[in-house]
Amino acid sequence: VDRLELEGVGVCDLTRDELFGRLRDALDGRAQVCLGFCNANMLLKALCTPAYAAALRSFVLVSDGLGIDLCSLLFRGRFFRQNLNGTDLIPAFLAAETRTRTLFLLGAKPGIAEAAARNLALLYPQHRIVGVRHGYFGPGETGAVLAEINAAAPDILLVALGNPAQETFIAENAHRLDARLLMGVGALLDYAAG
Ligand code: UDP
Repeated sequence: VDRLELEGVGVCDLTRDELFGRLRDALDGRAQVCLGFCNANMLLKALCTPAYAAALRSFVLVSDGLGIDLCSLLFRGRFFRQNLNGTDLIPAFLAAETRTRTLFLLGAKPGIAEAAARNLALLYPQHRIVGVRHGYFGPGETGAVLAEINAAAPDILLVALGNPAQETFIAENAHRLDARLLMGVGALLDYAAG
């Protein structure tokens, strides 16, 4: 897969079908995948913050938005084949998945993940939300959050803490989590909560 590579941050030029295939492979037991939707703002943060860039190295990053598409034109001489933003893509992926997947929703303000879970359960009756937790916790609570997630044993962990916090959380803790697919999803839970 061709990619945009800047300062060690690589954004894959995947089509939506190719990405769905990768996610399915992760869920069906191959290597754990950490997925990030990289917009220009996130790329800029990574270029300015080496620790964030390092965290993103363990991610499959896909291109989200016009800004990063313009970067691609500038540095690679062509646009990305498709724009893959999380807000469209995650609902589409969940809809396309016929096999039952279990999800844990981490992030957003208290009450939001619960409301999102209720709506997602109606929209995707084939899947199961096995846990939710709001995203306002201190570093001292991380161990308990990880334990709560592993106890629920989700296939998919959606992390909505904003960036860089969500990707940093995933990068630091993926090896301690059993979920097969971990995604930084920005404001998705707020949207899903309605
Ligand atoms: N959020 C959170 N914990 C925090 C900060 C933010 O759970 O400490 C949530 C926030 O409630 C929202 C999501 O992260 O649901 C995305 O936040 P925001 O829009 O501020 O971040 P962005 O994606 O724009 O960087």
